[in-house]
Amino acid sequence: MSLSSDRPKRKASLHTVLIISSVVQIIIPVGLTGYFSWRNSQQAVNELAYQSMEKVSNCIEQNLHEYFVIPELVNQSTLNAIELGYLNLENLQPWEKYLWRQVQLAPQLSFIGIGNENKEYRAARKFSDNSLGINQSDRSTNFNLYSYHSDRNGNRTTLKSITKNFDPRKRPWYQKAVAEKKLTWSDVYLSLLESSLSISTVQPIYEPNTKQLKGTLTVTLRLDGLNDFLSKLKVRQSGQVFIIDRDGTLIATSSTEKPYRINNNQKELIAAIDSSNILTQATSKHLLSHFQDLQQIVRPQQLEFSLEGKQQLVRVIPLKNNQALNWLVVVVVPEADFIQSSDATNRTTILLCLIALLVSIIVAILIARWIAQPILQLNAETKKIAKGDLAGTVIVNRTDEIGELANSFNRMSEQLQTSFDALQTLNEELLYSESRLTQFLEALPIGIVVYNRDGTLAYYNQTTKHLLALDEPIPENPNEQFALTSKIYVAGTDRLYPTKKLPCFRALQGESVTLDDLEIHREGKIVALEVRATPIFDPQEQIAYAIVAFADITKRKNVQKILSNYYNALETEVAQRTTELKQANQQLQLLANLDGLTQVANRRRFDEYLNQEWKRLVREKQPLSLVMFDIDYFKFYNDCYGHQAGDECLKQIAGALSRALKRPADLAARYGGEEFAAILPNTELLGAVAVARAIQEEVKQLKIPHDRSEVSEYVTLSMGVTSVIPTQDLSVESLVAAADEALYESKRRGRDRFLIYYPA
Ligand code: GH3
Ligand code: MG
Ligand code: MG
Repeated sequence: MSLSSDRPKRKASLHTVLIISSVVQIIIPVGLTGYFSWRNSQQAVNELAYQSMEKVSNCIEQNLHEYFVIPELVNQSTLNAIELGYLNLENLQPWEKYLWRQVQLAPQLSFIGIGNENKEYRAARKFSDNSLGINQSDRSTNFNLYSYHSDRNGNRTTLKSITKNFDPRKRPWYQKAVAEKKLTWSDVYLSLLESSLSISTVQPIYEPNTKQLKGTLTVTLRLDGLNDFLSKLKVRQSGQVFIIDRDGTLIATSSTEKPYRINNNQKELIAAIDSSNILTQATSKHLLSHFQDLQQIVRPQQLEFSLEGKQQLVRVIPLKNNQALNWLVVVVVPEADFIQSSDATNRTTILLCLIALLVSIIVAILIARWIAQPILQLNAETKKIAKGDLAGTVIVNRTDEIGELANSFNRMSEQLQTSFDALQTLNEELLYSESRLTQFLEALPIGIVVYNRDGTLAYYNQTTKHLLALDEPIPENPNEQFALTSKIYVAGTDRLYPTKKLPCFRALQGESVTLDDLEIHREGKIVALEVRATPIFDPQEQIAYAIVAFADITKRKNVQKILSNYYNALETEVAQRTTELKQANQQLQLLANLDGLTQVANRRRFDEYLNQEWKRLVREKQPLSLVMFDIDYFKFYNDCYGHQAGDECLKQIAGALSRALKRPADLAARYGGEEFAAILPNTELLGAVAVARAIQEEVKQLKIPHDRSEVSEYVTLSMGVTSVIPTQDLSVESLVAAADEALYESKRRGRDRFLIYYPA
C-alpha cells in the first residue's frame, strides 16, 4: 500500500490557472514575433551583404576597365600618328618629345618605348615621384643605352646612366610582340628600378603594304595605383578587396600589404596564400580548396567560410580585358560587419518584447485576481452551504457578469434557505405520515414483512412477531437474506420451504403470488399460513421492495379438512348406491327383454334387435338372415303329456336353439307360443341354412318323445329360412313375412323340414 495514493491530489487554483493561461497566451505570440523578426533580420543581413559586395565588385570591375584601357589608347594613337605620317620608324628623333608627352597622359603610365629593326631605341619614363626621363640608344650612342633626366619641356638635362650594348630587338618584350604579331599584354612583373608591380603592352608595327615588321611599341603601367584605388574603397568596417591572377599571385590589395616582398635583396611576387594578411591568406586558401583550380572560375561566385569562428562572406569576380588580362577580384567581408546593425535592431526588439511580456504578465495577474477573487469568495460560501450553513451571502460591488453571479448566488442562497425550511416542514409531515402508516401496519391483524431489493429485511409488524413467536431483539442478523423465513415449512411435511419458491423471493423477481401451502412449526405447534407477496416498484419501474402479507389459516384449514372428509364419505355412498341401482336396472332390462319361461329373448327384444340390426346392415350393406321354426303337433303334446310337460319341452327346445347359435351377435328369441326365431346378422343364406340344420340336429339329439306326432316318434320342428342384404327399399317386415311363409309352407309340405324364401 503506498502512502502517496492516499494523499489528495494538489489542485491548481483558479487564480493560478488564469495567470498561467494568460501568460502562456502572451508568451507564444511574443516569442514567435521575436523569432520571426530575428530570422527576417538574418535574411536581410545576407541580402544586404551580397548586394553591397556586388556593388563594390561592380565598381572595381568598371574602374579596372578604365585603368587598363589607357595603354591600348596610347598604342592606338601612336599607330594613328604613324599611319598619318606624322611619325615614322626610320627616324626616331621626333619620337622623343612625343613619347615624353604621351607618358604623362595618365598617372598609371610609367614608361613608353619604341624600338625598330635598325636596333634604334627611344623611350620616355615617369618615375613614382612624377619626375621624367628619356632613354636613347642608336648609332649616335654607339648602341649603348643612355638614360637622361628631362626638364619641364621635355629636354634632356643630366645623364643618369649608360647601359652598354643595348639592342632593343633582343629584349623579351620586343620578341614577344614579334612572336604574337598583335597587341599583347605581358605578365605582371616587378620593376627593377621602382617598388611597384608593373604590366606592359607590346604592339608590333608593320609596313602597311609589305606587312614587313618595322618596330615595336611598348607601354608600361604601374600597378601600385590599383592598391591605392582598392584601399580607398570602403568595404564595411573590416572588409577587404584583393586581386589575384589565375595562378594565385597577389596583384593588388586594399590592405596595407605590399604585393611583393624582398628576399635576399631580391624583390619577388608573392602568392596570395602566403600573404602576411591573415584575411587575404585565409580567403585565398579557401578559394583554392573550394575550386582546386582557379581557372575554373568563369562567372561571379559567392562563398562563405569561417575564420577564427567568424563567418566571412566572399564574392569572386573574373576580370578579363581583351583576353590579355585574366584576373580574379576577391571581395571578402566578415558577416559581423553586417550583423552589427541588425544586432542592435534585434536587441531593441528583444527589449521591447520583454517589456511587453512584463506589462502583460502584470496585467494578467491583476485581471486574474479581479476575476478570481469574487469566485473564490463564492466558492468559500458554497462550501459553507454544503456544510449546512445556509446563512452565507457574498458582497461584490460589481455590475458585470461576476456581480450578476454573486447576486444570483445570494438569491440562490435565499431560495435554498426557503426550500430548506419547506423541506424541513415536509420532512416533519412525512415523518408523521410514516409513523401513522406504521401505526396502521402495526394494527393490522395480519403479518406484514417488507424486504429490500437485495433481500434484506426492511420492516415487519407486530403481528409478524406474534405469529412467528419472535424474541427481541430480532432478527439476529438483519443483513441476512430473507430473514424470518427459517421456520417456514412445506405444508403437511417436515421439509423447509425452498428459498427460490418463497413468496418474498418470487416477489423480488417481479411476481405477485398467493400461496397457502406454507406452515410455521413452532413450539411443537403447526400454524398454517396463507401468504400474499407482491413487488413494489420505484418511479423508474425498478423493483424496490417485496411486501409480504400473511395470515394464520389453521382454523380454516381444519374446517376444510372436516368438510373434505365429509364429502369423501358422501361420495363413496353415492357411488355405491349408483352401482346398486345400475345393477337393478340391468336386471330389469334383462327381465324386460327375456322370456320368462325359456330364458331366451322375448318378442319385444326380438323386434327391437331385428330393427336395430336391419338399420345397421343397410348402412354396412351386409346380409341379414332369419330362421323361424314352430314345434309340430304341439297341441297334441299338451293334450298327451299335460301343460307342465309342454312348458318343459319348450325350455328344452329353447336350450337347443341357444346351443345351435355360436356367434355373439346371433340372437335366440321366443317369437310367441311354441314358435321360436334366430336373428343372424352378417350371415348369408348358406350360414342360415347351416344354423337351421344345427337347430334340427340339436332337437334331434334331445329325443323328446312325442307319441301323438304324425311325422316322428320324437318332437320335430318345421322351419322357414330367409336371407337378404337389407336396403332402404326393403322393409324388415318383408323379411319376417318371408321366413313365416317358408315356415307354413314347410308345415303344408309335411313338417319336420325347412324351406327357404326370399323376401318379396
Ligand atoms: P301344428 O303341427 O299344425 O302346429 O299343430 P299344433 O297342434 O301344434 O297347432 P296349434 O296352433 O293348433 O296348437 C298350438 C298349441 O300350443 C295350443 C296350445 O295349447 C299350445 N301352447 C301354446 N302356448 C303354450 C304354453 O305356453 N304351454 C303349453 N303347455 N302349451 C302351449
Ligand atoms: Mg305347432
Ligand atoms: Mg303354432
